[in-house]
Amino acid sequence: MNRVFNFSAGPSMLPVPVLERAQKDLMCYGDSGMSVMEMSHRSPAFEAIIADAQAKLRQVMGIPDNYKVLFLQGGASTQFAAVPLNLLCGSKKADYILSGQFSTKAYKEAQKYGDIVAAASSKDDNFAHVPAVTRASFRPDADYVHMCFNNTIYGTKFPEIPDTGDIPLVADMSSCIRSEPVDVSRFGVIYAGAQKNLAPAGVTIVIGREDLLGHARPDTPAMLDWQLAAENDSMYNTPPCWSIYMAGLVFNYLIELGGLEAMKALNVKKAKLLYDYLDSQSYFIAPVEKASRSMMNVTFVTGDADLDKKFASDAAKAGLVNLKGHRSVGGMRASIYNAMPYEGVEKLVAFMKDFAANNPKA
Ligand code: PMP
Repeated sequence: MNRVFNFSAGPSMLPVPVLERAQKDLMCYGDSGMSVMEMSHRSPAFEAIIADAQAKLRQVMGIPDNYKVLFLQGGASTQFAAVPLNLLCGSKKADYILSGQFSTKAYKEAQKYGDIVAAASSKDDNFAHVPAVTRASFRPDADYVHMCFNNTIYGTKFPEIPDTGDIPLVADMSSCIRSEPVDVSRFGVIYAGAQKNLAPAGVTIVIGREDLLGHARPDTPAMLDWQLAAENDSMYNTPPCWSIYMAGLVFNYLIELGGLEAMKALNVKKAKLLYDYLDSQSYFIAPVEKASRSMMNVTFVTGDADLDKKFASDAAKAGLVNLKGHRSVGGMRASIYNAMPYEGVEKLVAFMKDFAANNPKA
């Protein structure tokens, strides 16, 4: 079996020990006589799996007791609608920070439900940096402020949590959740699709402060009502059982590794190796402003579209796959989420050096 280093932006790599454990459990989970995929979500075995996944996530992220953890479906994109439906319950105003494609999608979706403005945007710079914001950037009576913490496509990340004063801050953390410690109490709501740093695609995690739940618009579809999900322990309907089980294994593995401090140390080391190389030469260009650099998605270009294409294709032949940049920006993108080993980044840097030496620019 030849596993490659998979730099995909998501779905992406999972830790090998987690895959091995899933393989072991596949035919028969514990003494249940069946796989998790075949199990009733109301069975004691699955109830234990979901309770354990929640407890482990709480432990890993240090989630305070006054926050609910929900395991939902529909991806982060469904939360683009769920956020306004659940939270536009006062002035019906919300302020969005536009730092890339997903925050813009969230903004457009929210516009269907209230008075939504862009408080700041870095579109003019093709989202090569994250916009600077202060409390003064937001309308004081806004029901919430929305941001996307790490911008998967552009390879940017907010260097710090924006100060929104008393206005609840809602963050899409799809591509940076679980990559380093974060002070959950600074947020009203955090949400994330699983398929980058949590689990296989299928489950979407919402972490919401209790006082913000229970105020959804009356016409909110039941499946998007966070309070209903909380009251039903994320089992208002059949949850994505397999993804939740896998998430639990991933959380457990992270705890064994030493938790988020240990994870951050490894992620910093990986990102530093790649950025240090990018900064040391002139063949590849890293378009993102240094202060906004993402630790999870690293973007770079050669400046020649044909060479970019050749890079991604030659790299794939060398076992370094999915390095092509997002179709909307081109170039290259190396997604180096938690499960990417340091060795994968070492191999990538060595490959980049060889490629630059063997493919002179015209
Ligand atoms: N937000 C971010 C930051 C993302 O990277 C993505 C997916 N790439 C999404 C939202 C959309 O997520 P989903 O496909 O789970 O709806």
